[in-house]
Amino acid sequence: MTMSANHKAALDKILNDQIKLFAFDLDGTLYVGEKAVPEAIELIAELRRNHQVVYFTNNSSKTITQLSKKLRELGFFCGSSDVYSAGAATADYLKESGLDNVYLIGSVGLRAEVEARGLRVCPAKTAHHVVVGLDLDFTYQKIADALAIINRGGKFIACNEDRNFPAGEGLILPGCGAMAGAITTAADKTPDFTVGKPNPYLLARIATEYGVKAEAIMVVGDSYDSDIAMALSYRSKAILVGQQAVFAPTVWSVENVGQIRRLLRKSQ
Ligand SMILES: [Mg+2]
Repeated sequence: MTMSANHKAALDKILNDQIKLFAFDLDGTLYVGEKAVPEAIELIAELRRNHQVVYFTNNSSKTITQLSKKLRELGFFCGSSDVYSAGAATADYLKESGLDNVYLIGSVGLRAEVEARGLRVCPAKTAHHVVVGLDLDFTYQKIADALAIINRGGKFIACNEDRNFPAGEGLILPGCGAMAGAITTAADKTPDFTVGKPNPYLLARIATEYGVKAEAIMVVGDSYDSDIAMALSYRSKAILVGQQAVFAPTVWSVENVGQIRRLLRKSQ
């Protein structure tokens, strides 16, 4: 889809007049597998001259340290607190909600984020609540454990509800939502809280920590249902990277991130 002249003019205007912070999705937007998307590194460097730039991801298996290391190794500028992940935000959510003694279905990275906040990860028998992230060793027993905790009144917290994710070279793998879904079916209960996008929880944290209003944030992502839906429910602006036609008044479509560079250059 190519933008109409009016559409382009509106985007030109808000990029410098209103937007203080750009929040970028990672997978599919800035990199695919182990490769940076063409012009993405240059775009981030150019934006950083006049804007705050942060990164967000529904990833629930890697720590913030691991995610920011990957960005730096690919060539992106990334400070130690510039990445917001569903995994780390889940640990924050547990902490601020007073949910301790959790049974954790997920990776060692998620466990590290939870324990770094002084929370205890417990065996199923003594746990008060259950937390579900992407777990490559998911089993029938883990569903049974989660079911028992939920049935005795424990909260059911999911990092995200992504059904699957692209693992590079055309491979699609089951996501955290596949695990949360198995537990949802067994317990006949949806999660009490799902932290990741499209829930605007991550975006709200970014807005608070950077002291910017919702309308001064531009979300850039490749998924309408996830990235753009999150932005819209928070009343932020959004750019969808890809070929899809979008007609919402606060969403722009670009074919690739390089197109954002050219729009910025024109409006400066
Ligand atoms: Mg993406």
